[in-house]
Amino acid sequence: MTPEGTAGRIVVVGSLNADLTIYCERLPLPGETVHGNGFAVNPGGKSANQAVAASKLGGHVSLVGAVGDDANGAMLLASTASAGVDISRVRSSSVAATGVAVISVDAHGENNIIISAGANGTLSPADITAAADAFDRAAVVCLCLEVSLETVAAAAQAGHDAGATVLLNLSPYAEIPQSLADLSDVLLVNAHEASLFLGDAEVPDADADAAAWEPVRLQFAARGLERVLVTLGAHGSVVLDSQAAAGSRITRVAPTKVNAVDTTGAGDAFTGAVAARLAAGDSLAEAASFASVAAALAATKKGTQAAYPAIEDVERRLA
Ligand code: ATP
Repeated sequence: MTPEGTAGRIVVVGSLNADLTIYCERLPLPGETVHGNGFAVNPGGKSANQAVAASKLGGHVSLVGAVGDDANGAMLLASTASAGVDISRVRSSSVAATGVAVISVDAHGENNIIISAGANGTLSPADITAAADAFDRAAVVCLCLEVSLETVAAAAQAGHDAGATVLLNLSPYAEIPQSLADLSDVLLVNAHEASLFLGDAEVPDADADAAAWEPVRLQFAARGLERVLVTLGAHGSVVLDSQAAAGSRITRVAPTKVNAVDTTGAGDAFTGAVAARLAAGDSLAEAASFASVAAALAATKKGTQAAYPAIEDVERRLA
């Protein structure tokens, strides 16, 4: 159950980026110029993607972020707003350009990405204070690491103080202070991030059964993280819930079988879906099962935000 009056309310704090993608036969070597054969500008940024995913799945989402006063910023505000996200707490910066990700993709789908934080880098604890009313009504606060750690920490503290569930997606991977881990009610990582967080620990193969994850559950619990979701790409995910009764502390969530054409942003779709379902009152395992369907459906279409499913699409697949 979520606290009264907060059901479905989510605050997403973090990044909005314009994804500038150029397609080419092969990626250039250092110092080399190659010809491209296509170019696209799309809305992106982990937090914008997660906010759109959660909103399309029925969450009432407020996004806290910053864009520049430019065309890319306008595109991002339009794409998030059209998905139903409340963008009134996305600040327009007069000093920094909208964040961009410059992406090159070769004929085999291999890519190089450079991110310029731009306005995302101006997001600060003062923006969290300014959004206090949204935190006060939140059931879930959803965070990732594309903005400064001090901003993430301030948002985690505000969510914790408001009694919200703090969901931390440890991506892109960075070392975090124990104080931030302590404020995180649910940690969401892929297998690589899980290994890095645990000091290059071995994690089970993606197709290993639940029992193989017991040592990993214990290591997370020893770091104060009792509720952890580990995503495993096409192999699904695993729920490590040290607060559950003995015997049900590890749940393997099977992948949803789809004809995947583009898995870019599947992780953000999964995170947004988990936020939406936790805010609606689901258990961690229920939220992960739902997110498995949502993320798989997102992989059946090209792109990120535009490819994310509506709640009806997920319900139809579950029926
Ligand atoms: P990215 O950063 O590329 O978005 P990620 O590493 O954060 O990805 P993944 O573990 O690749 O996240 O994917 C997240 C979830 O999406 C998986 O746990 C799974 O539920 C779903 N998923 C990803 N790829 C597939 C696939 N090919 N088929 C079905 N489900 C998939």
